[in-house]
Amino acid sequence: MISKIHPIPAFTDNYIWAIHHAESNSLTVVDPGDAEPVLAYLQANDLQLSHILITHHHPDHTGGLAKLADTYHPTVYGPQPSNIKGITHFLHEGDTIELYGLQFQLLEVPGHTLDHIAYYCDDTDTPILFCGDTLFAAGCGRIFEGTPEMMFDSLSKLAKLNPKAAVYCTHEYTMANLKFAMAADGENPALQTRVAKEKEKRESDQPTLPSSLALELDTNPFLRCDQSAVVQSVSAQMGISDSDSVSVFAALRSWKDNF
Ligand SMILES: [Zn+2]
Repeated sequence: MISKIHPIPAFTDNYIWAIHHAESNSLTVVDPGDAEPVLAYLQANDLQLSHILITHHHPDHTGGLAKLADTYHPTVYGPQPSNIKGITHFLHEGDTIELYGLQFQLLEVPGHTLDHIAYYCDDTDTPILFCGDTLFAAGCGRIFEGTPEMMFDSLSKLAKLNPKAAVYCTHEYTMANLKFAMAADGENPALQTRVAKEKEKRESDQPTLPSSLALELDTNPFLRCDQSAVVQSVSAQMGISDSDSVSVFAALRSWKDNF
């Protein structure tokens, strides 16, 4: 079983999630964009690196892979097709991997990039979701390679998972996302409460992550494109005529891109 999941900070606002297996003194890391903080963490805690999970090809998620693989020779899971060097096992929708006795299901979630995948485990009381740059706390990733429809479908797929799931995103973007969420859905009392709570965490230098899927469903405007308050503010801001959820999502995303 997993003994803890710890965020290793990297660059200015990335977290490299470190999954501990106390019994074997092993560690798995998710999206190591930089090898140095991971190497320092492994040495400081006297751990072996057994696995690396990759969600997509962006350098801030893969940049440390080669050096870590050279040093520790871990099993490296990641998406295909992809231009990432060093993956030892390519994964597809419906695949399952075992990690420290737990089963993780593979979900393809294209949109931010075409190769983006997520890892989901519901073997535990609190299910675990590693979703890279697809779903963020109170936001979602930019659409660099896919279409708004693709990203909407990917987020909808995540939204259907167990609401108790802990959501491990890769960036500490929460306060900026909440600022935008308030512009889009400011009358939402759950969102107002969340702003106060997350602000407190940041003021005491705590990560706002992991989030929970239930909290995202209640407060993340990108998962609330069917709610009339969100539809109304997107219509007022972006002047859209269609109020179907994909059109609202596309307009909401482009509003955020220029916010
Ligand atoms: Zn990315």
